[in-house]
Amino acid sequence: MRLKIYVIFLLVICALAPMCTKKAQKDYPIKPVAFTEVQINDAFWLPRMETNRKVTIPFAFKKSEETGRIDNFAKAGGLMPGKFEGLRYNDSDVFKIMEGAAYSLNLHKDPELETYMDELIAKIAAAQEDDGYLYTTRTIGPENPAPGAGKERWSNLGSSHELYNVGHMYEAAVAYYLATGKRNFLNVAIKNADFITSVFGPEKRHGYPGHQEIEIGLVKLYRVTGDEKYLELARFFLDERGQKEFEKKFSDSSRFSVYNQAWYLQAHKPVVEQSKAVGHSVRATYMYSGMADVAALTGDAGYINAIDRIWENVVSKKIYITGGIGSRHEGEAFGDDYELPNATAYNETCAAIGNVFWNHRLFLLHGDARYIDVLERTLYNGLISGISLSGDRFFYPNPLESDGKYKFNQGEITRKPWFDCACCPVNMARFLPSFPGYVYAYQDEILYINLFAQSSGTIKMNKHLVNVTQQTQYPWDGSVKITIDPEQSAKFSVYVRIPGWARNEPVPSDLYSFLNQSKEEPILKVNSKTQALNMDKGFARILRRWEKGDEIELNFPMPVRRVLAHENVKDNLGKVALQRGPLVYCLEGVDNEGQALNQHIPDDMSFKVEFFPVLLGGITVITSEEQKEAGGIVAIPYYAWSHREIGEMAVWLPRK
Ligand SMILES: [Zn+2]
Repeated sequence: MRLKIYVIFLLVICALAPMCTKKAQKDYPIKPVAFTEVQINDAFWLPRMETNRKVTIPFAFKKSEETGRIDNFAKAGGLMPGKFEGLRYNDSDVFKIMEGAAYSLNLHKDPELETYMDELIAKIAAAQEDDGYLYTTRTIGPENPAPGAGKERWSNLGSSHELYNVGHMYEAAVAYYLATGKRNFLNVAIKNADFITSVFGPEKRHGYPGHQEIEIGLVKLYRVTGDEKYLELARFFLDERGQKEFEKKFSDSSRFSVYNQAWYLQAHKPVVEQSKAVGHSVRATYMYSGMADVAALTGDAGYINAIDRIWENVVSKKIYITGGIGSRHEGEAFGDDYELPNATAYNETCAAIGNVFWNHRLFLLHGDARYIDVLERTLYNGLISGISLSGDRFFYPNPLESDGKYKFNQGEITRKPWFDCACCPVNMARFLPSFPGYVYAYQDEILYINLFAQSSGTIKMNKHLVNVTQQTQYPWDGSVKITIDPEQSAKFSVYVRIPGWARNEPVPSDLYSFLNQSKEEPILKVNSKTQALNMDKGFARILRRWEKGDEIELNFPMPVRRVLAHENVKDNLGKVALQRGPLVYCLEGVDNEGQALNQHIPDDMSFKVEFFPVLLGGITVITSEEQKEAGGIVAIPYYAWSHREIGEMAVWLPRK
């Protein structure tokens, strides 16, 4: 009897005292299934990933050689003579291609590429100074580094990109380590991060990077090394923002100018007090992603509340129907609420990629499909529009309208092979091979199916090992057949995302709506039996004992839908856009007798759709029933525009 009481006493104490059990590691409650566990074999993503591997990555390395980006490392390392070439943040471009190459090596062994990487890593290691500092422009010419670098180390953190560059190096080094098991690059990254940790901190030097990125990189470094000082440094850099009096005088709606740098780089308030998306949109999304990471790993609710508020602001007032964000050229920045012009839309490709990073992390925190709805919209529209089908031409801004002549900054109306500031092409190079990592996730007894792409994967849930295959022609066709093959029969829930667009909700806000409610409901069958949609946070929940070969069939009707914008979006008053499935469509001059801007889409226009397997890599074209002479139109997916000739393009067109 006494023993029994003693045992109960011990159990109670153990339940209360974490030291009795292994300290539970805080992290995202939902775990993504790594891209290495999912093999895509579809006609939409696989060709893009293959083009990235065969064309984009070698092309970007070649451009980096031609423009001195790679020689800068050799010069800094004393391996060759010469001056620094290019812009102060050019090191980061090389790191981003290397990250993409590492992901690509994971999916496809390539000894030649690995040798190339090792040689490049040797140059980077040579370029690293003895104490760990790495920033080629200063090492090559300490007396006269590139404009913006600052006279001395860390003296111009707001624009030097010293910390931004190495953040990308950490991501690349971790990726290469995970792909090959080699520590050569990781050691360079650790030496650098250890040095930066010795310089910055609460009792050391204060400051923060003008361009966020190192926060994400430090968290990745923490994940592979387990060294908490990297996580603490990420948090320190975030918390340093917006602490000084001069930073706080800028309101949420300030316009960018040299006088309000703080607003431009999200330091106008402490990060936990921010409520609106402001300033440079790529910096912003990287910061929100870094905040999500640190919050997941530390349990900081203040960070989560802030990014939740900011997300509401973006999704209800600042996102384009293409998923693009950052409407202003000036400062590459978010506009005011509802400031969403079409022809001058900036929508940097990097911001679309950052938007995917951020929304994915919010899903992992909250388990709500609305984040995947935003992610999918961005992915299929404003993100892949940034790269040509050939893989070697790129958009920096992604406008929703073009007269074929408009030029602004690098906003030319056709994709270009490269840019002096090449952030977008190299971001694409690292993003595309990671696509399979967005398809599945799991948590305890839930398996999430977030995206639809023909593929097979092995998902190691905590207690179950499950093979999952998808057969589908998505995004052209809404039928998806999913086989759930658990290693052993087991009871758990499969959460299948029912996309917002299939539930009459183009975005999870009132910023956009469909003109007509579709009465065609999504259909869900399990082993050929129709099931009611048991919805939970945007997912259809299927709880059962799963047996080998169990089959889920989905059918998402894909009628052509008309989208309206909120009446406060002045540029879209009286206009309509077309969407089918997850894809937003546009009219291009080449299909419409040279003219897209003067076309109309009256409410009584009816449409037919046809799949063309060869056109633009295979696309479904929307055509009006009316002939062209009678005001008819031809529309193609937005992402596919600007491949045939330079000319007019429009997403939004007048209803009358
Ligand atoms: Zn960019």
